[in-house]
Amino acid sequence: MACGGVRRTGLAMSAWLPVLVHTPAYASLGSVLTYRHREVLPAGTLVRVPLGARETLGVVWDAAADEEASGEIDPSKVRDICEVLDTVLPLAQAWQQLVRFAARYYQRSAGEVALAALPPQLRELSSLQLQRKAARLQKALGLQTPTAKGSRTRKVVAEEASTDTAQSPTHAQARAQASSKALSAEQTEVLAQIETHSGPFLLFGATGSGKTEVYLQAVEQLLAREPQAQALVMVPEINLTPQLEARFVERFAPQWGPQSVVSLHSGMTPAQRLSAWLAAHQGGARIVLGTRMAVFASMPGLRLIVVDEEHDPSYKSGEGARYSARDLAVYRGRLEGAKVVLGSATPSLESWFHSRPASEGGRYLRLHMPSRIGAAGRSLPLVRRVDMTHQPRNAVVSPPLLEAIKERIAGGEQCLVFLNRRGYAPVLHCSDCGWKSACGHCSAFRVFHKNDRTLRCHHCGHSDRVPRTCPGCGNPDILTLGRGTEQIEELLATLLADVRRPGTPTAEQPDGEPVRMGRIDADTTRLKGSLQSQLAAVHAGDVDVLVGTQMIAKGHDFRRITLVAAVNPDSALFSSDFRAPERLFSLLLQAAGRAGRDAALGAHSEVWVQTFQPAHPVYAALKNYDYPSFAHSQLQEREQAGMPPFSYQALVRADARSQEAAQAFLNTARKRATSEMVQWPGWAEVLEQVMLYPAVPMAMQRVANVERAQMLVESASRNALQSFLVAWQEVLHASRSDPACKGLIRWAIDVDPLAI
Ligand code: ADP
Ligand code: ZN
Ligand code: ZN
Repeated sequence: MACGGVRRTGLAMSAWLPVLVHTPAYASLGSVLTYRHREVLPAGTLVRVPLGARETLGVVWDAAADEEASGEIDPSKVRDICEVLDTVLPLAQAWQQLVRFAARYYQRSAGEVALAALPPQLRELSSLQLQRKAARLQKALGLQTPTAKGSRTRKVVAEEASTDTAQSPTHAQARAQASSKALSAEQTEVLAQIETHSGPFLLFGATGSGKTEVYLQAVEQLLAREPQAQALVMVPEINLTPQLEARFVERFAPQWGPQSVVSLHSGMTPAQRLSAWLAAHQGGARIVLGTRMAVFASMPGLRLIVVDEEHDPSYKSGEGARYSARDLAVYRGRLEGAKVVLGSATPSLESWFHSRPASEGGRYLRLHMPSRIGAAGRSLPLVRRVDMTHQPRNAVVSPPLLEAIKERIAGGEQCLVFLNRRGYAPVLHCSDCGWKSACGHCSAFRVFHKNDRTLRCHHCGHSDRVPRTCPGCGNPDILTLGRGTEQIEELLATLLADVRRPGTPTAEQPDGEPVRMGRIDADTTRLKGSLQSQLAAVHAGDVDVLVGTQMIAKGHDFRRITLVAAVNPDSALFSSDFRAPERLFSLLLQAAGRAGRDAALGAHSEVWVQTFQPAHPVYAALKNYDYPSFAHSQLQEREQAGMPPFSYQALVRADARSQEAAQAFLNTARKRATSEMVQWPGWAEVLEQVMLYPAVPMAMQRVANVERAQMLVESASRNALQSFLVAWQEVLHASRSDPACKGLIRWAIDVDPLAI
């Protein structure tokens, strides 16, 4: 619309306002630009402003700029705000501060962080459309309306519903109490600690120890106590939200209404996301459940943040601002005076370290729930290590494991066979000429998928038909190397072909029914809803042996699974990533948590680990479910090697047409740091504390014809690293134009990287 052209020059009283927008990276603008409006708007107000030729969403970022003071700005260049989205309450100061912090810490612009944190549909709807939407929402919310308080006294969206239906806290408490379970002694103790201390807390609880119940009751107590309070509960994966949502809705909807619980994750439609966001922003939603993006939800009454499975790598964003939602949650909690509970059966070593005794410098309070609920029948499954050096050569499923699986089937129980690799075989090769199924665009092999007879690269997505003969020499006998879930499923189906499930023989099946196989991985769950239906089939008992990747290791509550087997976990130990053992341990322990969740079957549940290194510390610790001693030894190693949490790291990654250009860019920026920055007054001291390593190719050096390199930056001081990175940005920008860097495509900084 003609917005940008209309100048209100006729108005004597007009205000200049700093507005945060997402400026394109190439335009050397900051993200706070000055706009004109006929009146002053409170900080946090959402506005639509012209930016170049388009119109964009912005946030009034500070109090009005002083027209006189902004002497550098040419008044004729200041453009008008197009529209004020005044049907939406301004964003709170604290929200702005969270964005500011995240942008600075993760080295991105505040505009990018803020706009990525707001629901995309806000960019499209007019103030009027928003008002209608908000009114509908308000109506749906019915009894629970936000009361404007403090600085948030601007127009509350739409008509406020009457408050006469609101219930008194005592009534609320009684209802809440009635709906919840009698707590175990450990749960009671933990809740009391959360009640009395300020946190942050690390809830270290075995799988099935009742952590979720603790979250539920902590939320329940909060809502009953404070009429405006809101709680944010985060889970690592979208797949886990429906299950959690069901549990929260069941608990809270009877009292607070079905709208009191909303979800926020990337699987929602733009309209759903906007509704949920508005409900949280206006305070009507008391509980927000979500994935990492929910850490930025605007919640004026935020009093409690739960980060479930806090160790999970999905909390770290892999694009844009590479933030850790877990770490931001801790920051946000402190900022807004909300209690933060991090929960896990296998905490990240960082959180474990932070929760050492306060006398040793710990900052988190560690709470322990070692026992599974219903202790007697539900001890943790027995861990069996199968020493593969003593098994027949080339055995994929060792004979003892196969026997154990058969026994479970005979007993009408279910088995879960876990392999973290999808497809049929990771590589095809020809033994005559040495050809391998390399991807032409990546430094990776194309994976053989037998189902649709394709060779697929899991990095660039490139897919071809499987060749009939070797592309190198015409040999018709192409072989597979290694195994994926498809092959394990096929193999088990063959090995179990003669086994019959218990049950009455029928005319068609006089000996009983054959074993029912199932497989769940990224390939079988591409279609929306397919994961849910496959999980439902497992729950319904329609599958005897389920093969799958880490997708099935997490969270899902399978009742009748009494045997979990990891067929080839060793592969993770060969990784060069120093976090690999930690990850493997948590993955196996989580997978183990899938077994024996049914009290009656729990007693004889088992976890089988096939390994060539049965004495490896990861498996030894797993055998005893001894996370603390595993963590202790890992932390000792980290300390000796000066690795996190004993040092702070950032990675700079560069993508380029050639590996030389990618490395040249990084090395140029490095050289300038040591030759130029060191001369800046006061900087020699900072640089002394920061170590810049030479550029190296990334482990996956080439993806989709793009060469990738990285440089590690390390410091024992977080402050030194932060100050350095902020200042170094400028140097990095400047290094782009160095002739040696021709062909550089992009670069990005990853602060506190998870994989190196
Ligand atoms: P976690 O999150 O630690 O894995 P959950 O909270 O899911 O554990 O609890 C495991 C199971 O025990 C769930 O089925 C839950 O309903 C049940 N449970 C939890 N706390 C109690 C309790 N106090 N009394 C009875 N059952 C409980
Ligand atoms: Zn060949
Ligand atoms: Zn590829």
